[in-house]
Amino acid sequence: MAAMSAAMPEIEPTFPVPPLNYDFLAPPRIVFGWGRRAELGPLAATLGSRAFVVSGSRTLEKNGALADLFQLLQAAGVEPLHVGAISHEPEVGDVDRLTATIVAHQPANDDFVIGLGGGSAIDLAKAVAAMATNRESTCVVDYLEGVGRGLKIVHSPLPLLALPTTAGTGSEATKNAVISSYDPPFKKSLRSDLMVPRIVLVDPELSISVPADVTAHTGMDAITQLIESCISRRAKPIPRAMCLQGLQLAITALAEAVRNPSCRSAREAMAHAALLSGMALANSGLGLAHGVAAALGVECRVPHGLACAVMLPTALHVNRAGCAAELASLARVVCPGPFSSDAAAADAFIERIESLATEIGIPKRLSTLGVRQNQIPAIVTGSRGNSMSGNPRDVSDEELSELLEAML
Ligand SMILES: [Zn+2]
Repeated sequence: MAAMSAAMPEIEPTFPVPPLNYDFLAPPRIVFGWGRRAELGPLAATLGSRAFVVSGSRTLEKNGALADLFQLLQAAGVEPLHVGAISHEPEVGDVDRLTATIVAHQPANDDFVIGLGGGSAIDLAKAVAAMATNRESTCVVDYLEGVGRGLKIVHSPLPLLALPTTAGTGSEATKNAVISSYDPPFKKSLRSDLMVPRIVLVDPELSISVPADVTAHTGMDAITQLIESCISRRAKPIPRAMCLQGLQLAITALAEAVRNPSCRSAREAMAHAALLSGMALANSGLGLAHGVAAALGVECRVPHGLACAVMLPTALHVNRAGCAAELASLARVVCPGPFSSDAAAADAFIERIESLATEIGIPKRLSTLGVRQNQIPAIVTGSRGNSMSGNPRDVSDEELSELLEAML
């Protein structure tokens, strides 16, 4: 050994991981598996005996899935109260109205909330669960980041069970709810560590009825979240490990889930990747694609997943120079190598993302989304939020404006 150490260069080894000094926040109970919605009753009963249910699109009502879930609750002694359904990204008025409905039912210790649907339904459920117990203001704006009075969520929200039906936002595993306003225009988060759902029940079988375009857009949202949280300036080791697995699964499974909606393994892979992306973004933050996506949502009404999908290639090119090593580590799990350098691997990764986006029909131009040149100044202004602050390098208003103009 002595001879060997004498021959070794005196250089401390370094490992390509973010600093090993971190916090990690995640839902305390995750139940994942095909068909496991059958366990809803006993799981829900651990939270209380009356459930305020917030649901998403009407598909689940039409195909009978909602009635089946209600039966499961009743069989376990839980009374479901269907207080709201939402088919668009939640707005300030949606949160305030639904909170008032729940408060009128005088929630007590044995009451909880179930959010059932895509990211919009789960975000709305999270917001009303928090607003129902935090009554310093009856308007959610006062609690949103960057607008209103800056009030904080200080009381524990009603416990929340999240049951996602799409594979995308990862909202089931995050500590924030994204709330929109169109007049004045903003898209901001209600955020608190207290808002993490108590139980997450992911049954990928529920995503089989999701249409191909929604599968494509929400899937690209998950991929964007996995990448942005991995290269974020707040990146952390546990989320990073999750991102590598999530990306490896999602990049191969997404096109198959779009092509073949009933493919069980593709739906499972996407649901798992989306869940991982939620835990990753809740701990590590996001970046430029999500920053701009918020503004595209309020200025041009572009759905969140589609906005992220369109912005992702540009965000990767913008960050490529400063993040070649990070992007190369992603390339090594999703692209066939070998690579001559980190730069070559980073390029291969970006090409892989671009070809996937093309394969599943993601448009390349902002004009396809209805964006007009005279909206760009407002989009630049609206992009400055929590997501953008995680981007690995600063992007000036002027540069962002040029990037968006080039995408028109
Ligand atoms: Zn997202």
